[in-house]
Amino acid sequence: MDDTRSRQVFIAGAGVAGLSVAIAFAEHGYVVNVFEQAQHLEAAGAGIQLSPNATRILRQLGVLDHLLPAAVRPDAVVLRDATTLRELARVPLGQAAEARWGAPYLVAHRADLQSALMARVTGMPDIRVNPGAQVSSVAPGSLVVTMRAGVGRKIVDTEGFLLVGADGVWSAVRRFGGTTAQSRFSGELAWRATIPADSVAGTAFAAIGATDCVTTFLHSGFHMVAYPVSNGAAFNLAAFTKGERIAEGWSGNADAKILASATHRTSPALMRLVELAGPWTAWPIHTVDPKQPWTVQDGIALIGDAAHAMTPFAAQGAAMAIEDAVTLAGFVAASPADRLGALASWEQSRRPRVAQAARRGAVNRLAWHAAGPLALARNLFLKMRPPEKLAADLDWLYGWRAPDTGEIG
Ligand SMILES: Cc1cc2nc3c(=O)[nH]c(=O)nc-3n(C[C@H](O)[C@H](O)[C@H](O)COP(=O)(O)OP(=O)(O)OC[C@H]3O[C@@H](n4cnc5c(N)ncnc54)[C@H](O)[C@@H]3O)c2cc1C
Repeated sequence: MDDTRSRQVFIAGAGVAGLSVAIAFAEHGYVVNVFEQAQHLEAAGAGIQLSPNATRILRQLGVLDHLLPAAVRPDAVVLRDATTLRELARVPLGQAAEARWGAPYLVAHRADLQSALMARVTGMPDIRVNPGAQVSSVAPGSLVVTMRAGVGRKIVDTEGFLLVGADGVWSAVRRFGGTTAQSRFSGELAWRATIPADSVAGTAFAAIGATDCVTTFLHSGFHMVAYPVSNGAAFNLAAFTKGERIAEGWSGNADAKILASATHRTSPALMRLVELAGPWTAWPIHTVDPKQPWTVQDGIALIGDAAHAMTPFAAQGAAMAIEDAVTLAGFVAASPADRLGALASWEQSRRPRVAQAARRGAVNRLAWHAAGPLALARNLFLKMRPPEKLAADLDWLYGWRAPDTGEIG
């Protein structure tokens, strides 16, 4: 393999994972081609929480400065009982987060994150993003990319190059190694709505939740997270209920009665907010078994949701994708002569971390949807635990730093 070819990386997908890994590889001197099936790069969903483990890397990748003008630094994460609206717990963020974990905790509109990543990518001449290009199959030494807009198919010679599957929970690249691994519907639906701060719904939210915090309302079998986006001009609401499987994608239609009945017996003010905030769009939550291989064959690695989509209850899916991106590029750059070994070491280093983040999400879900005596025990535990201790419980997650591969700064 000549030197030029050994410095080329192909990426399927231009989501958070794909753009982050493109920047990370370009930072290490690689030439990167990103193929994105969508004709126009649009951020899926509405809001996103970016914890310090993610923003630290975004800063390292030169993305954070592009994001900060549109992002909000919430003052705290607040848990409230959805029936009484009583505050159950508070984890201080803002300056406290920055002092404790060395990077800010941010909330943002996903479109602003996507724009910040693209702004950085645009300034890097070694990255080329190809929209309307779906990676559809791989043959020995070559990649078949189906171009949209009637341009037909294009065979991209990939011999000796690295292909990164950053193509999300319904990944095509995951199947290239002949695995039959599928994503699995979790039985839960995520409902989302974005409401202008100065609308009737915005006022209804401001009456029951702090407009400068991430507020989570807890109820048996249901919870709703609300926080400001777009510099405080709007609020992102994300509610979670059980539900039947619906069409894949961010703009699904599910019966709004499911959401209405999940909020039954919550506070009238919360029920009114849910009514006013519609129309809601629903997203079926799918997960990918993280135990399946992330190196699907020599030279093809999976990252982000393609590798290990998790439930969103710890707000860590995108953060893990960003961590994957910078670590993958670091391991590969540190061992250019041993690509397979580098991929194996990368995978080995990431697995425990990703599994721990997924477990934290599962614990959150259990605690937040608890009913009866379990909910009482939860409330008591939260009451007894001072904010400082609740923050310390998250040190392993938010204080994480990339392992030293000899290449990562
Ligand atoms: C309701 C909800 C709330 C969440 N909140 C948070 C949060 O607050 N914080 C957090 O960190 N995470 C959160 N997550 C998780 C987070 O959204 C995902 O983990 C993250 O978006 C995954 O990014 P990705 O780039 O791996 O995949 P995606 O964002 O799905 O991107 C994949 C890209 O690949 C493209 N693509 C697919 N197939 C192909 C192909 N064959 N060829 C070319 N392109 C292709 C797609 O068009 C897409 O652009 C949440 C998830 C949900 C459902």
